[in-house]
Amino acid sequence: MTQRIYWVPHTTCFLGCAHCHNDSSPSGRQATRDLIERIIAHLPGPESDYRLEDVLVGGGEALMRGQETEYLIRTFRGRYPRGPQRTVAERRAAGHVILALQTTGLPLADRRGNVRGALVKYWLELGVDYFQVASSDVFHRRERPEFPWEALESSLQAYGAAHDVEFLIYGKNLSKLVPSGRVLENLDALEAEGAGLLTAERYCADGWETASHFLSGTQLPYPQCSEIVIDPDGWVHACCWYELSPGLFDVGTVDLAGGMQGLQSSLLCQALDRGDITRLADIARIAPELAHQVRDAVGDCGCCRLFSVLLARQPEHGWLRVAPLSPRESAFYVRQLGEDTLPEILDR
Ligand code: SF4
Repeated sequence: MTQRIYWVPHTTCFLGCAHCHNDSSPSGRQATRDLIERIIAHLPGPESDYRLEDVLVGGGEALMRGQETEYLIRTFRGRYPRGPQRTVAERRAAGHVILALQTTGLPLADRRGNVRGALVKYWLELGVDYFQVASSDVFHRRERPEFPWEALESSLQAYGAAHDVEFLIYGKNLSKLVPSGRVLENLDALEAEGAGLLTAERYCADGWETASHFLSGTQLPYPQCSEIVIDPDGWVHACCWYELSPGLFDVGTVDLAGGMQGLQSSLLCQALDRGDITRLADIARIAPELAHQVRDAVGDCGCCRLFSVLLARQPEHGWLRVAPLSPRESAFYVRQLGEDTLPEILDR
C-alpha cells in the first residue's frame, strides 16, 4: 500500500500572509527534536504493508532557519536514505522515499530574484529530493509587491534545467480560501481583491488536497492515492486543511500503519474517505436541510469544521482531536449563517 505524507512540523514564516489558513507567522509554533524523532520512528518501514512513497515538508516556510528542518531531514535520511540516482523520477522508480520541501522560493534567491546555487546545493546535499515552490499567486505576491517574482520563477526554471534540480512551481487558486486562520479576519479585504471562499460542490470528494481516498487510495496512482497530513503536534488528519478536519490519531505515539488500519472500520472515516459531507452531517445528527443550508454558505470545509465540533462531543467519537470554536470562528459562522443558525447547530 502506498502512502504519501504532507508534514507540517512548524508554522513559522517570515511573510505572515493575509490568506494563511494555519496562521503561520514569524512567531509560529516550532517543532521539537523529540517529536520529530518519534514521528519518524513511527512511519512505515520495509516490513510494513504500507510503502512510504513521498513526504512533503511544509509549514510555515520549510526553509526558515532555526526550525529544526535540517535535523528533520538528517533524522529522516538516517532511516530512509536518499537514492543515488540522478533524477527524482529514477529515485522514485527505484523505490526510494522522495523528500521534498515546500517554500515560497524567497529563501533560495537574492533580492533580484536570482537563485543562490550554494543554498540549493546545501539542501540537496542534506537529503532533499526537490522543492515545491508554492507562491505563484496573488496572495503571496501582495505581501512583497516590490519583489521580482517573475524573475525568481525564470531563474528557478533556468537553474533547474542547467543542474537537474526539480522545482515544482504553483500557487493558490483565487476562489479556494478555506475558513481558517487569518482568512477569518481578512475575508472582506481578500474578497474585495477578487478572492472567494471555497464553496464548490463536491470539493472534498474531487479535490486532490482533500480527505477523499485517504484510506482507500493506497493502491491508486497520484493524485487519487492516499495522502495524510501530520500537524505540528504529530496528529494525523485526512486532509491538508488540518485546522478544519478532525485529528484522527497521534503518530508521535502510534505506528502510522496501525493507526490507519484502526480507522478503516470508522463510519466517520469512511465518510471522509469519500469526501461525503452529507454523510458527515448525518453522523453528527444534523438534519439534511440544515446541512445543505450550511454547506451552501460555508462550503465543505466550513461544514467539516462545524460538524467535527459536534462529532467530538459524541462519546463514540471521543478519540477525535478537535479544538473548540475560537471567538473569531464563531463570529465568522454567525456572519455567514445568520444569528440563529450557529446556536441551532451547537446547542443540541
Ligand atoms: S471538507 Fe474537511 S476533509 Fe474535506 S477538504 Fe474540507 S476540511 Fe478537508
